[in-house]
Amino acid sequence: MLSCPRCQATIESTTIQCPRCQLLLKAHGHPGMPLHRTEGDEALCATCVYDADDTCNFPQRPDAKTCTLYRSTAVKEELALPQPSIARQVSVWLGNHRGWVGLIGLLLLSLVLVLLR
Ligand code: SF4
Ligand SMILES: [Zn+2]
Repeated sequence: MLSCPRCQATIESTTIQCPRCQLLLKAHGHPGMPLHRTEGDEALCATCVYDADDTCNFPQRPDAKTCTLYRSTAVKEELALPQPSIARQVSVWLGNHRGWVGLIGLLLLSLVLVLLR
């Protein structure tokens, strides 16, 4: 169960406004549009992906205290896929280029046979 960030009243995930303290929890009166709100004095933009990659053109940037589009850089880092190992990358590359690998192998084998004669 969720709770209001201001008064800790129990709320539903679709609650638009806190029934106890009247804090707005959703943007534009729409239950599916979360309104992200800063905790403390730091602006949301300081930890937002769209500020980090300089793609945000909202007028409240860089001092947004509330925002509908906020996306935490921490979440992005958590979702980032781990880099595959070099051995795995080579294995995938060889698997995708079997024809070329076979052709080069035949050429090298032919070269070795010619040199051994
Ligand atoms: S999307 Fe919102 S929180 Fe993110 S940089 Fe823009 S204004 Fe700031
Ligand atoms: Zn409240």
